Amino acid sequence: MKLTDRYGRVIKDLRISVTPRCNYDCLYCHPLGLEMTDPPGTVTVEDVAHFIQAGVLLGLESVRFTGGEPLVRKELPAMIAAARAAGVEDVAITTNATALKKRLPDLLAAGLTRVNISLDARDPEVFRALTRGGDVEDVWEGIEAALEAGLHPVKLNAVVIRGMNEGEVAPLAELTLDRPLHMRYIEYMHLNNAPFEEYRAQFVPGSEIKARVEAAFGKLEPVATDPSSPARVYRIPGAAGTVGFINPVSEPFCSNCSRLRLTSDKKLRPCLLTELEIDIAWAFAAERPVEALVDAILIATDRKPAYGNTLPTQRQRVMLGIGG
Ligand code: SAM
Repeated sequence: MKLTDRYGRVIKDLRISVTPRCNYDCLYCHPLGLEMTDPPGTVTVEDVAHFIQAGVLLGLESVRFTGGEPLVRKELPAMIAAARAAGVEDVAITTNATALKKRLPDLLAAGLTRVNISLDARDPEVFRALTRGGDVEDVWEGIEAALEAGLHPVKLNAVVIRGMNEGEVAPLAELTLDRPLHMRYIEYMHLNNAPFEEYRAQFVPGSEIKARVEAAFGKLEPVATDPSSPARVYRIPGAAGTVGFINPVSEPFCSNCSRLRLTSDKKLRPCLLTELEIDIAWAFAAERPVEALVDAILIATDRKPAYGNTLPTQRQRVMLGIGG
């Protein structure tokens, strides 16, 4: 079966945030300060298993675990295994990769199929400033471990912020020349409650990011992709990997959106860029949770808005708490 919303969009991808905790404090993601523990009510392995089973009954095809930082949850392998046991073939994580080298054997044994790794800069000082203290060497180890394990594709995500890392755009693209790495530049969304003027001054449109890559490496060659993919993908001529541009602000892709998000505190978020959240704790607590979660997913799908709000606005929940 295909789960279709009222605008005819097929919903097939689940994003599950497994924790509000993170070991990085990225300035574009949330205001300063981090949660140190998972609050009571945070999704358990059993909750995740039930939710994915419900999703599979409705035809959902892919699951991506995110956070916070998903690798801070020691139960992540059990969650991945639950997704595979439910019949999901595409099980991915979005991670800052600092613990990836150490955790990868367990994740692979559980059935992980793909990784997206956040890497906003190659320069250690720029990286440290953006992540408020991170060490880019730790991420490198994670990227190398993913490549050595033969994971494919290994995607790298960079949010480009004016005055911080626009000078890193070309060095990041260079990584794709001789390695099968897939660089994705993401436009900065106002999801961290930054002051509006500061946000506007720091926003860099995808067209400018692409122009920076082309100024360094020449005209990019288009690469065909799945139409539901938010990225416009290209290759530097002769490169082993690709570069892609995800432009939710300047070129919104709402009409192709195939996602539903579950937050770690059991809210369904049909759209990243609206405040609408549906509390589905009742469904997890029901006597027959999978059946109740099927209902919950149908309700959230029916309420999926046509468009998100990309304008700067005071958000009730910042990116860290939603899961990108
Ligand atoms: N901790 C993991 C990580 O670092 O990838 C997963 C969670 S993080 C919220 C998921 C993705 O959201 C990352 O690729 C991050 O760069 C992106 N992200 C966070 N805040 C963003 C913002 N304001 N605009 C665009 N992307 C953002």
